Amino acid sequence: MSDHNQDWFEEKHDDIGLRFRLKNRLFSEQSEFQKVEVVETTGHGVLLAHDGMIMVTEKDEFIYHDMITHVPMFTHPNPKKVLVIGGGDGGTVREVLKHEGVQEVTMVEIDGMVVEASKKFLPQTSSMLSDPKVKLHIQDGVAFMKQSTDKFDVIIVDSSEPIGPATPLFNVDFYRDINERLVDDGIVVSQGESPYYDMKMQKVLVKILAEVFPKVHIYNYCNMSYPSGLWSFTFASKGLCPLRDFSEARVQQKFQYYSPEIHRGSFMLPQFMMDEHGDSLTPLPKMSWV
Ligand code: SAM
Repeated sequence: MSDHNQDWFEEKHDDIGLRFRLKNRLFSEQSEFQKVEVVETTGHGVLLAHDGMIMVTEKDEFIYHDMITHVPMFTHPNPKKVLVIGGGDGGTVREVLKHEGVQEVTMVEIDGMVVEASKKFLPQTSSMLSDPKVKLHIQDGVAFMKQSTDKFDVIIVDSSEPIGPATPLFNVDFYRDINERLVDDGIVVSQGESPYYDMKMQKVLVKILAEVFPKVHIYNYCNMSYPSGLWSFTFASKGLCPLRDFSEARVQQKFQYYSPEIHRGSFMLPQFMMDEHGDSLTPLPKMSWV
């Protein structure tokens, strides 16, 4: 099929673009917060985008949702109450509910249109949103953190880029509120941007976390649908270490991307990341294979 009459979805940045060949455009509406689009691609399944930024594709969402969920959930000794800020497509909640000990997962998504579009066009990620253990709030995560009196074992900030509604989620006051809502051995993991293209923002987020939490780490994953393919999550805790306190024995099921080796290896950072973040990151125990 020649290129000129082919339809593409393109995520555009200053110096690069990311294009996905399209079969069909399924949904496009302006919500109170952002433009929500759903398209069907020829090679990556259904794709959800906000304001032109790719959120998830059916083909590689397993990578992001495995890594944002199972690293904190297998580090915390017994996560029962989990909070997801953002996460409108439902993939993170789906993975959290794979942990049998979980009694309740609260999801706070600012934009109801994202949840409805995901329920209609992305059953693969939104499949568990109607589970009885799920408490769904269509609300700003910042406001929720200020008014909540709950305590959580794990908090997952599954937010979009720090533009538009997600901007206040990259703020020290928000993480001070998170700190208040975490139990004594609580963990918070956040969408940590790209070390290649967003190092400036990643350093801001790490410095914010280092102001609030005694332990701050970063771990990486590789996916297909975000610019450069190498992206990060931040991991902050009141004391738990993602390597020393990781319990491999608890990993009794096979995932598509996550494994005990990937858990450990994802914290091994390239030298440029270590140099950029310097002593904002908490040193990790050396792993010995001997
Ligand atoms: N995997 C995606 C990524 O890395 O960009 C994020 C997935 S999820 C779709 C991101 C969600 O965060 C969006 O649905 C967006 O509406 C939501 N969000 C942004 N700002 C928010 C806020 N202040 N409170 C709650 N949800 C927010």
